[in-house]
Amino acid sequence: MSLLSFIYLLGSVSFILGLKMLSDPAKARKGNLIAAAGMALSIIGTIFLYRDDEGNELHNYGWIFGGIILGGIIGTLAAKKIKMTAMPEMVSLFNGMGGACAMLISIVEFRHLTASFAIDTYSDRGFVFFSTIPGGELLIIMLGMIIGTVSFAGSIIAWGKLNGKIKDFSFRGQHIFNLVVLAVITLLTIYILCCRPEETILFFYTVLVLSVVYGVLFVLPIGGADMPVVISLLNSFTGVAAACGGFLYDNPVMLTGGILVGAAGTLLTILMCKAMNRSLKNVLIGSFGAQAAKVAAGPQGNYKQITIADTAVVMAYASKIIIVPGYGLAVAQAQHACHELEKLLEEKGANVMYAIHPVAGRMPGHMNVLLAEADVSYDKLMEMEQANEVFKNTDVVLVLGANDVVNPAAKKDPASPIYGMPILEVEEAKMVIVNKRSMKPGYAGIENDLFFQPKTSMLFGDAKAVLQQLIAEIKTL
Ligand code: NDP
Repeated sequence: MSLLSFIYLLGSVSFILGLKMLSDPAKARKGNLIAAAGMALSIIGTIFLYRDDEGNELHNYGWIFGGIILGGIIGTLAAKKIKMTAMPEMVSLFNGMGGACAMLISIVEFRHLTASFAIDTYSDRGFVFFSTIPGGELLIIMLGMIIGTVSFAGSIIAWGKLNGKIKDFSFRGQHIFNLVVLAVITLLTIYILCCRPEETILFFYTVLVLSVVYGVLFVLPIGGADMPVVISLLNSFTGVAAACGGFLYDNPVMLTGGILVGAAGTLLTILMCKAMNRSLKNVLIGSFGAQAAKVAAGPQGNYKQITIADTAVVMAYASKIIIVPGYGLAVAQAQHACHELEKLLEEKGANVMYAIHPVAGRMPGHMNVLLAEADVSYDKLMEMEQANEVFKNTDVVLVLGANDVVNPAAKKDPASPIYGMPILEVEEAKMVIVNKRSMKPGYAGIENDLFFQPKTSMLFGDAKAVLQQLIAEIKTL
């Protein structure tokens, strides 16, 4: 085994190990570092040890290191600057860059392939005879290009939608139109693979443009509560596109990395679909959730307000408390104050746990990452199913900046856009205190009946400020 093959083996093992560790919050950070180290080793190994069939080493070092340095600086600055609440946008954008890489690789390799075969066949037989191009290689190039391009275009739209620069858009018959675009892409690809037309290059670029169109139209109509499914699906697309690159270059580490991302993204997509009660079929033909963006007419019914002082008394004397963090906690950067409140209440003898909804916040695992940042112990976190079993034995549930994930309409109102989405059934608890700044709806843009229920009290204000006041008040009791 050559040194480079051994490095690739180490790289592949590091990805598998890293991915395994990511499933445990306590080991996730270490897992990420191990996988990153494996990736760095594989890149360095490729740059310095790779030799082609004729024994030539890589050249163009200026371009390679220029790209690495520039990309490294942009990536580091972006990662340092980004706010936790804007993380999904960054994930989307970086995922799009992965898709763009796969697309560019396919374009370059298609040009190489057609150019070299055209020259060979010109000299051999005096005419262009594209059918001599190896079908397998061409198929991989086409797949990498189509999937990478859809992922690139879709991710850029998802990025624009998440940061509010692009609005939802759909038109009548979009399902059909998307399917027609997919069908044309498939037919043209078969034509390119089977036939030997001189216009193959033109068809190749037609497929490229249609893939951009499909990626854009596939994500544009999706709104409201369905975004996480799409982001995770696009992530799996990028993985598959990268795996195509691995096949193409016969590079095992690229292949393993791509397959792992593709498989992990697919599994996450399925889990997200379940968590949001959306079918994968709807995601693929792209126009579900468009109705989720409808905003309700305004607060309906009466709601009760509670003061900081009363909340402090209620919480100080409760013995079982569950905190439900949501997007608002991330916006307010209230995770540290939240942990402080938890410690204070535990000192007073209460049992405090956290209930985490799979899509609370704006990306999968958002709340886990946020609470980990504040050193909240992992065994204090309950997943949705577990939490739903214990709400009925809970004295107080404190909802911090969460809305859609505790909306009972998901269970009770078939007309609601989030109907069928599993939720944290906080209304089962003896008392519910909801902290948010106003009666405005959450991400899905819909009214929340929980706020108007007799056992719910609203505690208005910015989550961080409210928690700090609450801590000060409890300390005086
Ligand atoms: P929501 O977006 O439903 O609600 C968050 C609430 O926080 C708002 O109602 C807002 O009310 C309140 N809020 C905002 N800022 C503050 C603040 N500074 N202090 C206190 N409260 C604040 O969040 P959830 O976590 O309940 O649900 C997540 C939603 O996001 C779901 O619809 C999910 O599908 C979607 N989503 C999830 C993704 C994921 O992967 N996790 C990705 C993309 C979307 P007010 O303005 O009145 O303060």
